[in-house]
Amino acid sequence: MKIITFDVGGTAIKFGMVDENFEMIFSEEFPTNEFEDTDNMVMYAMESKLREYEGQYDAIGISTAGQVDFENGMIHDGVGNIPNYNHSDLRGTFEKIFNVPVAVDNDVNCAAIGEAHFGAARGAKDFLCLTYGTGVGGCIYINGDVYRGSKFAAGEFGHMATHKDGRPCTCGRIGCYEAYSACRVFTKAVSDRMGKKMSGREIFKEENLKNPIVIEEMDKWEDEIALGLRNLCYIFNPSLIVLGGGIMSEILLLGHIRHKVNMQLEPNYKHVKIEKAQLGNKAGMLGAAWLANERLKTWNK
Ligand SMILES: [Zn+2]
Repeated sequence: MKIITFDVGGTAIKFGMVDENFEMIFSEEFPTNEFEDTDNMVMYAMESKLREYEGQYDAIGISTAGQVDFENGMIHDGVGNIPNYNHSDLRGTFEKIFNVPVAVDNDVNCAAIGEAHFGAARGAKDFLCLTYGTGVGGCIYINGDVYRGSKFAAGEFGHMATHKDGRPCTCGRIGCYEAYSACRVFTKAVSDRMGKKMSGREIFKEENLKNPIVIEEMDKWEDEIALGLRNLCYIFNPSLIVLGGGIMSEILLLGHIRHKVNMQLEPNYKHVKIEKAQLGNKAGMLGAAWLANERLKTWNK
């Protein structure tokens, strides 16, 4: 049994193949706009890859940016930055062409499913997953499954309001959690004050960690991250929160966040474990592959 799996983002599409043990046989990536002269460049790119490997896989898993109608395997909304991709019927189209089951879900949900079966949340029935990057994504995992909400848009923690009359957000509203806690916001704040463009990895280099600007901005940023996590702890009373996004592999940052959240919680909430995601940029592909395998189990030709 083999599954071909994709992870579609705004700048890159990752794709690969897993075997029956969900071991990655290969994986690679290419720019999302590689076929920008086509009508629907993401669908075109995926179809080309699927034709290239046709006959070598039993199911197709797709993790994608945007809100996904999980029941129907369609893009529901939220990918306005990729031309003509909104409302794409991924499952309907590819099941018809390739005659194998196709599973599609939102990228943060897929990452959480990956972590639930193969990573930081192995064995956990309930947990929350948040990813910090350009924005902040979220997933609510309850009783061994993703809670998707009435219109497949639950867990958008990035757009919780944490500041009244706050900063504008990319969603058009103000005061959103991600306008304060996204990794991008932190690296921009440090870069602006340091007078040079710095990535998260550069900021966390030892020589920069003694810089008062870095210390101050990091402290402010951690406070914002912790504020949102505190709210979520009081809503869900979780035993585990998994934090994803490359920046969360910084152990110093994770330690500070754990401390700041813990300080704000009452005793019945303090047991919450805050862990970094373990699967890195393969989480989405593995989660999508797992969903594809579930669909394969009930697939009737
Ligand atoms: Zn927002």
